Amino acid sequence: MLEAKGYAVRSPNSPLEPFRFTRRDVGERDIRVEIAFCGICHSDIHQARDEWGGSAYPMVPGHEIVGRVTQVGRKVRGFKAGDTAGIGCMVDSCRRCPSCRRGLEQHCDTHVALTYNGTEMDEKTPTQGGYSDHIVVDEAFAVKVPPKMPLDRVAPLLCAGITTYSPLKRLGARKGSRVGVMGLGGLGHMAVKIAAAMGAEVTVLSHSPSKRADAKRLGAHEFAVTTDAGAVKSLAKRFDIIIDTVSADHDIDASLSWLSTEGELVIVGAPPKPLAIRSFSLILGRRKISGSAIGGIAETQEMLDFCAKKKALSDVEVIAMRDVNAAYERMMRGDVRYRFVIDNSTL
Ligand code: NAP
Ligand code: ZN
Ligand code: ZN
Repeated sequence: MLEAKGYAVRSPNSPLEPFRFTRRDVGERDIRVEIAFCGICHSDIHQARDEWGGSAYPMVPGHEIVGRVTQVGRKVRGFKAGDTAGIGCMVDSCRRCPSCRRGLEQHCDTHVALTYNGTEMDEKTPTQGGYSDHIVVDEAFAVKVPPKMPLDRVAPLLCAGITTYSPLKRLGARKGSRVGVMGLGGLGHMAVKIAAAMGAEVTVLSHSPSKRADAKRLGAHEFAVTTDAGAVKSLAKRFDIIIDTVSADHDIDASLSWLSTEGELVIVGAPPKPLAIRSFSLILGRRKISGSAIGGIAETQEMLDFCAKKKALSDVEVIAMRDVNAAYERMMRGDVRYRFVIDNSTL
């Protein structure tokens, strides 16, 4: 076993604290990655505080991981020591079921080994995430980071990037598409950049009037304050696609009326409480509502290459590991522009 150190939470109400644990030895298809940066996703907070239920402790969060490969197993073909690798929200799946065969490992019909707050394929051994010094992962679940990219700004792509790229790609966002992005946080700001890079006309739908200038700077064409009744009226039937990234309870029924005929609302934000919708909000306009979870491994690589080519990188505030609890508090207050990223060398 390998000695590892990181920051963990031990209960829903306790802060993140220094923690020592072990990781498996590097197997023949594994790579060992010294973590350079790890983004802080709102899902880290939901799970650390057990807002979704079923959290397992102690928990080392973090699934927006980039770092340098320091060791590779005997049968590894895709990586060598010195390469830069990225690891997102999952570290394994069955690889045989219909979903895995379609490249949708995140929807594996058997078991997905989540990067943390999950278990390995034995469904027993707990996994631990990227608020740590290193990680050992099967090379099949690591992606290659294109050369010369600023790694702090790449880390958030491993979750926020792929989670927004995947539905935009699936729904064919392109020149002429009208895309609404609800919630301008970590996911939202990447949705804006990626949709704009795909050629779409992007409107940010935010409950924070102070983000107007940022929205434009990030590439949005328009900005609407969702709590402003007048502004909201003008949004009727406006969008082909709305990506909802909001992390807290909010009125999604209202947002359905902003969709054009056959438009689609994609839920990626995961507030804990059930959502309320009126049947007529879907019936009229034959509107659709769907969910989306990250993306498969091949699609994650495709997204990284797309973002490298389009220079669509995250806007980040780099913090030291010891400041991670303060970063959580600031995220809960909406005080982040637009992703906190831990510099793991400060561990
Ligand atoms: P974040 O950076 O904290 O951003 C969330 C945004 O939601 C905020 O910036 C804010 O945008 C909006 N918001 C917050 N509180 C609100 C409220 N009370 N009313 C209305 N809007 C509010 O979070 P994130 O990391 O982007 O994650 C967003 C959500 O996506 C989380 O629930 C997370 O768990 C989920 N997630 C899902 C997946 C997936 O695969 N489906 C992957 C990653 C994350 P404005 O100020 O602009 O309104
Ligand atoms: Zn995430
Ligand atoms: Zn599977």
